Amino acid sequence: MMQVLPIQSGATTRECLPPGRLIVLTGPSGVGKGTLMRSLLQRHPELYYSVSVTTRSPRPGEINGKNYYFISRSKFEQLVAQGEFLEWAEFAGNYYGTPREAVLNQVKSGKLVVLEIELEGARQIRRSFPSAQSIFILPPSFDELEKRIRGRAQDAEEAIARRLSCAQTEIQAADEFDMQIVNDDFETALNAIEAAVFG
Ligand code: ADP
Ligand code: 5GP
Repeated sequence: MMQVLPIQSGATTRECLPPGRLIVLTGPSGVGKGTLMRSLLQRHPELYYSVSVTTRSPRPGEINGKNYYFISRSKFEQLVAQGEFLEWAEFAGNYYGTPREAVLNQVKSGKLVVLEIELEGARQIRRSFPSAQSIFILPPSFDELEKRIRGRAQDAEEAIARRLSCAQTEIQAADEFDMQIVNDDFETALNAIEAAVFG
């Protein structure tokens, strides 16, 4: 039987957050979320970084289980149907999702959990967990964002074009989130995130 998926993304019910905290880092692709996240984790190894599931192909050097869990579209759709994701979305032609159980268990045990996800997923988390803290990372300019995506040199031209076209819309949504941080000077942005999270 053919499986029918909810439109573009899922997980909209309102849920209660147990003792820990959920922090959402969002912003356009190429703005530096992953790099900021890695540096934040180096400074604060006590944070729990949620490894996402994706149908995108691994980039050179990416490791299954460390950067992402890389799976097929059909397997992803099966996991959606089983309610295994806290949020999920389709971005630039691929599915991305946050494993529900692992994240909720970490929050339950009192951990600070950080999700680094795109706009639609971040919106879902805000709807489902209004107490989550959300941070939107902005580029200093659109030209600089393009430079960074190209400079990363890990995406094909078509993937870069898709990411840049999404970025226009994503940036306009920055005000929906609790805090906006411009990633111009890296250390300044990192310190601002650190201050927001550990205040
Ligand atoms: P995202 O995870 O948001 O897609 P990345 O973390 O992969 O973005 O960063 C994209 C590129 O931008 C990387 O090459 C990274 O080294 C670079 N970058 C990140 N922050 C800065 C910054 N503040 N100034 C200049 N380059 C940066
Ligand atoms: P990339 O393909 O560049 O690794 O990621 C593309 C976008 O998907 C980035 O903005 C990244 O933050 C986002 N992303 C990564 N994991 C998830 C996830 O689990 N859920 C959602 N909604 N977005 C994700």
